[in-house]
Amino acid sequence: MTTTEIQQPLTPRQRRYWGNKEKENKVSREYYAKNKQTTNKKYICDCGGLFTKNNIYNHRQTKRHKDYINHTGIFLRERYE
Ligand SMILES: [Zn+2]
Repeated sequence: MTTTEIQQPLTPRQRRYWGNKEKENKVSREYYAKNKQTTNKKYICDCGGLFTKNNIYNHRQTKRHKDYINHTGIFLRERYE
């Protein structure tokens, strides 16, 4: 069994579509690359823990952070230092 692919020339509309697609891909790639640096950037929380923008939610669930929130910050800060 053989399959033959008929290669038809792209219509102007298709050409525009694929042209845009390439451009969009490039834009989103650049956007991702630019954001990668900021999203992987580490922040130091008031509780003394490290978190990235992506895992800030997870960080808020950690015991250390909850302890900090539940107790006075000064007390924990002195203890950790
Ligand atoms: Zn924290």
